[in-house]
Amino acid sequence: MKERVEVMLTAEEIDKRLEELAEELYKEFGDEPVEMICTLKGAVVVTVDLAKKMKMPVSLNFMSVSSYGDGTVSSGNVNVKLDLDDDINGKNVLIVEDIIDTGRTLKKLKELLEFRNPKKLKLVTLLDKPDRRVVDIKGDYTGFTIPDAFVVGYGLDYAQKYRNLPYVGILHFDED
Ligand code: 5GP
Repeated sequence: MKERVEVMLTAEEIDKRLEELAEELYKEFGDEPVEMICTLKGAVVVTVDLAKKMKMPVSLNFMSVSSYGDGTVSSGNVNVKLDLDDDINGKNVLIVEDIIDTGRTLKKLKELLEFRNPKKLKLVTLLDKPDRRVVDIKGDYTGFTIPDAFVVGYGLDYAQKYRNLPYVGILHFDED
């Protein structure tokens, strides 16, 4: 089997959409400080690129919650592997996700963070695959709604590969 990536969203399209999202987030938070919570590892690239476009003071923090392992099927088990290193009580918090698929990971994460009493808790995701949702959750801000396909690039991996692609593409497995 040979892996092949078919471009779905170009670097330029993503950059333009992040510019728009930063504008929308400015309307949401104004000049108040915002703590952006990057969900490792997939959201690293979108977090950094979006952070550079945000106009208010921004701090960055990181969390790791379990996702797919090395395959392409969700386990349904969600564990916190790395927690925040600060207290978000009373802060404006923006969770940054790479993709919402079944929604299980995010639902758990949102509940956990809401319990810590942030002033405001919002969610931005680069990609949304609504066809695959099994729990009721939606991003407050969505970059692109995409069909049910396994995508890589712009932070998203397959077996830890492809995260560095500057675009998002569908991963195909071709016969040799
Ligand atoms: P959920 O809990 O919504 O099913 O899963 C979310 C996580 O699964 C994402 O943060 C991501 O790590 C992984 N995931 C879901 N769909 C895809 C996909 O199409 N491609 C890749 N590379 N990862 C995905």
